[in-house]
Amino acid sequence: MGKPTGFMEVDRIENPYRDAETRLRDFDDLHVAQPAEARRAQASRCMSCGVPFCQSDFGCPLHNLIPEWNDLLYKGQEREALGRLLQTAPFPEFTGRVCPALCEKACNLEKNALTNRDNELYLIETGFANGWVHPRMPKTRTGKRVAVVGSGPSGLAAADLLNRLGHEATVIERADRPGGLLMYGIPNMKLPKHVVERRIRLMEAEGVRFQLNTEANPAALKAYDAVLLCGGAKKPRALNVPNDDAKGVHFAVDYLTAATGAVLSGDSPSITAKGKAVIVVGGGDTGNDCVGTALRQGCASVLQLEMMPALPAERTASNPWPEWPRTLRADYGQLEAIFRQGGDPRVYETTVRRIIADASGQITAVETVRLQGFAPISGTEKEMPCDLLLIAAGFLGCETETANRFGVTLNARGGMMPADGSHHLRDNLFAAGDMRTGQSLVVRALADGRAAAMEVNRWLGRSAETPGTSVSAWM
Ligand SMILES: Cc1cc2nc3c(=O)[nH]c(=O)nc-3n(C[C@H](O)[C@H](O)[C@H](O)COP(=O)(O)OP(=O)(O)OC[C@H]3O[C@@H](n4cnc5c(N)ncnc54)[C@H](O)[C@@H]3O)c2cc1C
Ligand code: SF4
Repeated sequence: MGKPTGFMEVDRIENPYRDAETRLRDFDDLHVAQPAEARRAQASRCMSCGVPFCQSDFGCPLHNLIPEWNDLLYKGQEREALGRLLQTAPFPEFTGRVCPALCEKACNLEKNALTNRDNELYLIETGFANGWVHPRMPKTRTGKRVAVVGSGPSGLAAADLLNRLGHEATVIERADRPGGLLMYGIPNMKLPKHVVERRIRLMEAEGVRFQLNTEANPAALKAYDAVLLCGGAKKPRALNVPNDDAKGVHFAVDYLTAATGAVLSGDSPSITAKGKAVIVVGGGDTGNDCVGTALRQGCASVLQLEMMPALPAERTASNPWPEWPRTLRADYGQLEAIFRQGGDPRVYETTVRRIIADASGQITAVETVRLQGFAPISGTEKEMPCDLLLIAAGFLGCETETANRFGVTLNARGGMMPADGSHHLRDNLFAAGDMRTGQSLVVRALADGRAAAMEVNRWLGRSAETPGTSVSAWM
């Protein structure tokens, strides 16, 4: 354990946001990194609990060795701390930026929890800055070829581990850039795209191959010993209201993809919020990303409609620690809207009943209605001006086209979860990530990709303990 009294002497301090005025002018990183002394002081707060819930099933899905690397960080042994982190975390530069930090919510210090996510980010960025992170090639190659379909976090984590285990991993991706929702989904200010590209270059140097602009086709994958489907779960839930095909009505991920494409190319986005009255349907995290993006594009106004009532300010009795707290939070986009517009953009227990369009088919307004439970309250209909309607109402599972092409029957939730809960669909075909579990989190997709890679490895007749393929030898 680091400093026994650390948690009593030092307050929890997270990496602060850049001030709203400044950050709304660009799409750059939201946060300001803290210097080494601050991070070491934060790490000194870890109590090295007898039962560290942070790394249990309530906490980090990767089961990161949090008390161990916090202790080493407190002692100023950053390189050793990073080594301990990399034993379980494939890409801390992603989770250190976008993870909701399940570990922190499960920390024994509860609201005054450790800043594990920021500490993790500091360790990996210190590693890159000092040249400690470099390509690591497997000592021996197995001669087995594995195709990984999809380059989101699950596909990247699986390809990374398969490669370390000595297999030849080829990632097949239909988009023009690798990363899945890390690239086209999560906005640049949350996860700068050069961070994703840096990891891809490292993986290429380690031997992982990427085939971009390529739709996966079972016939073309016959030469592979195993195929792992990591195609995500981006099938969006539609509004199904009159006029929902009007011009100016878009699914959130299409809008966010266009926004990131424009940030990367320097061109104008094909869908823009500039000067528009924007309404986002869906009060969740994807909706929040739309709010933050619309504000940066210079929207005239932005509102976020949510069908559910607002969450309580504190945990309820049925949601005790160390469970994830289902309490009201304001994320960066909502904070920015409060700064710009003077009020929370979220309107609860409200939905869109009808879209109103002009003669050219362009949306001009929406009719909303208040809800009780899920039932509309008659007489509460209201017309709200709207030039851009963004639908962030959740996801219904993976695309049926890919499932049909590979002859996989989807379960009731639209996913590829085998009945035995494994990753093995049939013969040499496997699935992982959101495609298997439904829309989730980056950290869960990473953990699932790694678990699938181990299953593929076993199926290929290899043991993780085979000399030259030992996982621990590589971390
Ligand atoms: C807008 C948004 C913001 C989010 N923000 C966060 C966040 O801040 N923190 C967090 O933890 N989680 C976040 N999530 C959730 C997280 O991004 C996902 O859970 C995670 O990316 C899932 O990873 P995956 O690898 O399973 O799939 P994906 O990331 O969806 O990647 C799947 C990839 O497969 C490719 N593909 C699909 N089918 C084929 C095919 N037939 N041939 C070739 N390629 C194919 C797709 O093009 C895509 O690149 C967010 C999700 C969204 C939508
Ligand atoms: S990956 Fe997420 S849950 Fe795990 S240690 Fe990092 S911040 Fe915590």
